[in-house]
Amino acid sequence: MEPVSLLVGAVLLAVGFAAGRWGRRQPTPPPQMTPLCGCGHALSQHDVETSTCYAELRRDTFDRRGRWAGHTWVPCTCRQYVGPRPIDEVFLPRLLPPTD
Ligand SMILES: [Zn+2]
Ligand SMILES: [Zn+2]
Repeated sequence: MEPVSLLVGAVLLAVGFAAGRWGRRQPTPPPQMTPLCGCGHALSQHDVETSTCYAELRRDTFDRRGRWAGHTWVPCTCRQYVGPRPIDEVFLPRLLPPTD
């Protein structure tokens, strides 16, 4: 084998290796989403034992003439947390980055 073709082969190998390194981009981690219940509150705002939501909702109140009279806090009517739980992540299929 000629020395030139050896050199060319080595260069091609190096280029291919470098291209492979650059082509394989680091997968970006998915944004950390706070799991929310159907009521819009996080799991941490739900009672562990009763599953009821103890967060409070701000309700606008109006006087008899229909004018805004401030707001009151009313307890959330949620009775059970229905959103994703952290333990569910184990069973969810991992999202794989597209292979190129
Ligand atoms: Zn809830
Ligand atoms: Zn709630």
